[in-house]
Amino acid sequence: MDLALSPEDIAFRDEVRSFIAQNLTDDLREAGRKTGGVFTDFDAGMRWHRALARRGWSATTWPREHGGTGWSAMQRYLYAREMTAADAPRLFNMSVRMVGPVVMKYGTAEQKAKYLPGIVSGDIVFCQGYSEPGSGSDLASLKTRAVSDGDDYVINGTKIWTTNAHQANRMFCLVRTSTEGKPQDGISFVLIDSMDTPGLTVKPILTLAGDHEVNQVFFDNVRVPKANRIGPENGGWTVAKYLLEFERGGDAYTPNLYARLDDVRRIARDEAADGSGRLVNEPDFARRLAEVEIDIQALEMIELRVLSDLNRGRNPGAASSSMKIRGSETLQKIDHLGVEALAWYASPFEPEARQLGHNEPTVVPEAGITAMPLYLNNRASSIYAGSNEIQRNIVAKAVLGL
Ligand SMILES: Cc1cc2nc3c(=O)[nH]c(=O)nc-3n(C[C@H](O)[C@H](O)[C@H](O)COP(=O)(O)OP(=O)(O)OC[C@H]3O[C@@H](n4cnc5c(N)ncnc54)[C@H](O)[C@@H]3O)c2cc1C
Repeated sequence: MDLALSPEDIAFRDEVRSFIAQNLTDDLREAGRKTGGVFTDFDAGMRWHRALARRGWSATTWPREHGGTGWSAMQRYLYAREMTAADAPRLFNMSVRMVGPVVMKYGTAEQKAKYLPGIVSGDIVFCQGYSEPGSGSDLASLKTRAVSDGDDYVINGTKIWTTNAHQANRMFCLVRTSTEGKPQDGISFVLIDSMDTPGLTVKPILTLAGDHEVNQVFFDNVRVPKANRIGPENGGWTVAKYLLEFERGGDAYTPNLYARLDDVRRIARDEAADGSGRLVNEPDFARRLAEVEIDIQALEMIELRVLSDLNRGRNPGAASSSMKIRGSETLQKIDHLGVEALAWYASPFEPEARQLGHNEPTVVPEAGITAMPLYLNNRASSIYAGSNEIQRNIVAKAVLGL
């Protein structure tokens, strides 16, 4: 894998920089800087998505034939580095990143025509209905039942931890269509075309940091046309697993990690250490910053390999599990250093400081207003997208052959 930037790569990077300079407005940068969880404020994120769509850049991992950029692995990586360095909003990208590739691989021609252009433009925004109370790691035990009734399924049950179900306009969902045989053999993958479908209710769950990102979704005789099933009836498990590889890989982790580490460095440059100097020069803290940077560099190598595989049409496989483990653990280490650097300034609860346009004085220094929310919200990063224990089981089996 050749990591040196070619003249074409440099020209591409400059093109991205110039697009950012012209289109990433101050309020969008503010939204990006104030991201206190996984995704930036939904409306700001969608505004940025639409700006990218106008430029043809909203589906960076997709082939051109479906409205994607068709970029090489290196281009996608350079793009992600430029975006995070400029504080661009972190997009709620379950549609582009997860369900899009599934529709491309398993969808019919009608389904591709129905969903893919809307995902690219931002008109179609999916949330993910996989987990249920009692079915997270053991996803195949899911109970939400879809019973056949003419051309429809009638769905009853509940999904939980559904990120942005209150913001999305559609949902991709795993449902039980059979209780015979192995649990994996009775699951189907369906797309729900409106979050306002009668019988569907979304209730908020507040995170540790007090944010509303996740929800519980209830189904009370929700009708979904069978034409919205992706893949065969009872064949949803294969589709579901394919999607999970894109949930865990397929998007660059390390650009965000580098940007977050820079944020911590900024705080440590300002904050006093015990005695007279600055925290960033305090040997133990400086050593831990350096260790995290080395972790990021190691992850970057795996990531570039995965991106390069994706570029050749290969799906990420078990490497996405390694990336998910290392990416989330490194993120949590950075969050920990951020809180430590702020010391007692990390404690005040000032959620209003993260609202867009807020310009009142705050107790927490401006560079640190997201440190505690990120620390708290990112505790979940070793749980969502399949817990790290489960990823280790996958690596043990698929990579180490244990
Ligand atoms: C912030 C957040 C956002 C989320 N967003 C979504 C979403 O949008 N859509 C969606 O469908 N889901 C979402 N999830 C759900 C997430 O995928 C599940 O929480 C996750 O899969 C773990 O399942 P669980 O919570 O049921 O925990 P459990 O499966 O009950 O696990 C509990 C603990 O036991 C461990 N464990 C379980 N089985 C094993 C095993 N075989 N070997 C070793 N250890 C094991 C786990 O690692 C964990 O530590 C989200 C979760 C969070 C926290």
